[in-house]
Amino acid sequence: MAKIIVNQSKINNIEEVLGICPFGALEEVDGKVEINAACKMCKMCVKKGPEGAFEFEEDEVIAINKDEWRGVTVYVEHSDGEIHPVTYELIGKAKELASKINHPVYCVFVGNNIKNKCKPLLSYGVDEVFVYDDEELDKFRIEPYAAAVEDYISKIKPTIMLFGGTTIGRSLAPRLAARFRTGLTADCTILDIQENTDLDQIRPAFGGNIMAHINTPNHRPQFATVRYKIFSAPQKVENPTGKVTLCEIEKDKLQSKIKVLQTKIKNKVVGIEDAEVVVVVSRAFKKQEDIKMAEKLAELLGGQLAGTRPTIEASWIDPRRQIGLSGRTVKPKLIITCGVSGAVQFVAGMKGSDYIVAINQDENAPIFDVAHLALIGDIYEIIPMLIENIENMKKNQKAEAEFALS
Ligand SMILES: Cc1cc2nc3c(=O)[nH]c(=O)nc-3n(C[C@H](O)[C@H](O)[C@H](O)COP(=O)(O)OP(=O)(O)OC[C@H]3O[C@@H](n4cnc5c(N)ncnc54)[C@H](O)[C@@H]3O)c2cc1C
Repeated sequence: MAKIIVNQSKINNIEEVLGICPFGALEEVDGKVEINAACKMCKMCVKKGPEGAFEFEEDEVIAINKDEWRGVTVYVEHSDGEIHPVTYELIGKAKELASKINHPVYCVFVGNNIKNKCKPLLSYGVDEVFVYDDEELDKFRIEPYAAAVEDYISKIKPTIMLFGGTTIGRSLAPRLAARFRTGLTADCTILDIQENTDLDQIRPAFGGNIMAHINTPNHRPQFATVRYKIFSAPQKVENPTGKVTLCEIEKDKLQSKIKVLQTKIKNKVVGIEDAEVVVVVSRAFKKQEDIKMAEKLAELLGGQLAGTRPTIEASWIDPRRQIGLSGRTVKPKLIITCGVSGAVQFVAGMKGSDYIVAINQDENAPIFDVAHLALIGDIYEIIPMLIENIENMKKNQKAEAEFALS
């Protein structure tokens, strides 16, 4: 790690020196100046301190041989062999990245009784699926799962590891990145790759106001997590040619201090991420009761209701229905935003939607920059009009169907 060295002999006035640090990280201990844990490495002491009193010592960068690391790997997220769709979305991105550097696409699949469940992965054009199939890997437990993936990375040496930004992905990826002393970027929204195999990891930062570009130039593998519904699953290939490789791991590496006593299957609720139609309410609604009209619109379209952060903060909407940077990402076929201004933090969670209809009375509202159809006007007039039109359409369709049957 880089560090700051204090040359005590160059310090004459300790009192004066202590005041230099804006974070209060300089302190006097037994007549000497020491740097405490509050240090942010801002180097103000190096710049403003007495000449030669503080020296910044850079880490020595040990060059790695990037050619030794080959392949873009997707960690297969699953529950009892049922593969989570984020895996396919990551395979899509992995294929795109791998084709740019001419590397293979791998999957690492860890669990119990899973070796016969690799077909869907191969059907998306994965080159090789590495399977760790063992009864000790029956339910997700962090120690044996991390051990299996660590074993995989040590043997195969992939240049990139992609994980879903799920509960499992978020616990596995940082643990493994730490073991390999490499970098991890969480919740990437854009991934690209350079010719030298450095991964461009791009994600919103500072509340979505900037897009941070992160590279891991001196370490491998490069770890990234990506949330569900950020990328798209690829087309299936006609004649998959990929293979399945069963991997062996020493039993003692799969020991765990965690015992799974019981598991309960929760009723699957279709979340806003899985809805094909989403209607979004906002601060433009004057009171909670008025949300009923948006609910009615969503119901008529067979969709789900979601909200901007202020509506969640007002407890009008369930927090699981918040769209945006600090909420969920959605990618429905149709999204209707009702009086949403279009703040960057909101747009980050829905801009991938197939068709965006935005209602707002302010024609300069930023939401119109991403909308396919702009309805400029009052939500209290437009939503009832939409409801009426859809109801009439449905009545006409029903009458036509009845007439055709008679
Ligand atoms: C770190 C951070 C994370 C955040 N994460 C999220 C997040 O995940 N999701 C999120 O939504 N926000 C998030 N925010 C908040 C975000 O910045 C905005 O404040 C929020 O999205 C605004 O919500 P809104 O569009 O409902 O309200 P406003 O921005 O107040 O917009 C209301 C809009 O309604 C229009 N309007 C008013 N009356 C009518 C009417 N009668 N008819 C038609 N239009 C009308 C107005 O013209 C205006 O455009 C985050 C902020 C920060 C700092």
